[in-house]
Amino acid sequence: MAAHGNKMSKYLDERLAGLQAYVPGEQPQDKRYIKLNTNESPFPPAPGIEAELKRVYARLNLYPDPDMAELRDELAALCGVCRDNIFVGNGSDEVLAFCFLAFCGTRGARFADITYGFYRVYADLCRISSRVMPLDGDLALKPEDYIGSDETVFIANPNAPTGLLLSLEQIDAIAGSTDAPVIIDEAYVDFGGETCLPLLKKHDNLLIVRTFSKSRNLAGGRIGWAVGSRALIGDLNSIKFSFNPFNVNMLSQAAALCSLRDKAYFDSCVTAVKEARAFAADRLRAMGFEVIDSHANFLFAAPPGMSGREYYLRLKDRGVLVRHFPGERTGRFVRITVGTRAQMETLVAVTEQICKE
Ligand SMILES: *Cc1c(COP(=O)(O)O)cnc(C)c1O
Repeated sequence: MAAHGNKMSKYLDERLAGLQAYVPGEQPQDKRYIKLNTNESPFPPAPGIEAELKRVYARLNLYPDPDMAELRDELAALCGVCRDNIFVGNGSDEVLAFCFLAFCGTRGARFADITYGFYRVYADLCRISSRVMPLDGDLALKPEDYIGSDETVFIANPNAPTGLLLSLEQIDAIAGSTDAPVIIDEAYVDFGGETCLPLLKKHDNLLIVRTFSKSRNLAGGRIGWAVGSRALIGDLNSIKFSFNPFNVNMLSQAAALCSLRDKAYFDSCVTAVKEARAFAADRLRAMGFEVIDSHANFLFAAPPGMSGREYYLRLKDRGVLVRHFPGERTGRFVRITVGTRAQMETLVAVTEQICKE
């Protein structure tokens, strides 16, 4: 907890004394950075949202719809499933937290050593035992590590912070090999991953988690969701209605609906990010960087001749903020969120300066 500047009080439950809380990427409020550190979209929310929020504002004296019928129907239509197959949470972080609460108490959890950092934190918070499976030498996930798992499986696909993918066949094999729930976190799937939606018909232990934070330009709205069998979704609803029935506020529900209804805007933003990603990856490789082949809206890149931390600090000095993950296997790299083409051009220009010094 020290990372958040709090010393524990003497009143804190002793069992939480060792909790190492998640440390989110910096959200600097002082100086204006080119902000490429938390995988947000560089583009504004869908244009229709502003007017819709004004309309909803008039109803803010009332509680929102706890069933989120309209939003769940729209998401169900997107996936070709029914409303009862959809759960919506306050960011996918909340959906994931509910999964740890609902599915891991007796089974435990299994996930990779290098993946979304919150899996470890939720497991610790809920006092769930976890089996942590090391990525291979190329930082790829080893699918065989999850075959026949006794624990509930959590896989980010594409993985973060590497951007690497498992194939549908590999997910299919994992889900078919165990009775435990298999949670596939598709936070980045819209940027070039392959969704495992088609596998839902085959596996009632499979749950897919998605978010509006990355590809839908709504990180500040805090909207995440899950699609899976009625039984799994029912379990998540039991948790939600035992915790906070109004977990997604009215403004966010309205924003999410608008985003889903403007497919052209969504497509244009995702295409722009993919083009900017290809441009930045090419240019960094030409400068001697090792850049992992990314299927997400970020690049995991190791600079030549300096550590990841040094590159991170030098970029920050020049007003470009990226994320560094200290650690034996990740310390060489930084994770660069893909912004607009203009932002990527600045990143490349600043990097050329840094490499010349
Ligand atoms: C960003 C991210 C999330 C959290 O997204 P929110 O919906 O903003 O809570 C979940 N999983 C992964 C892998 C992420 O990168």
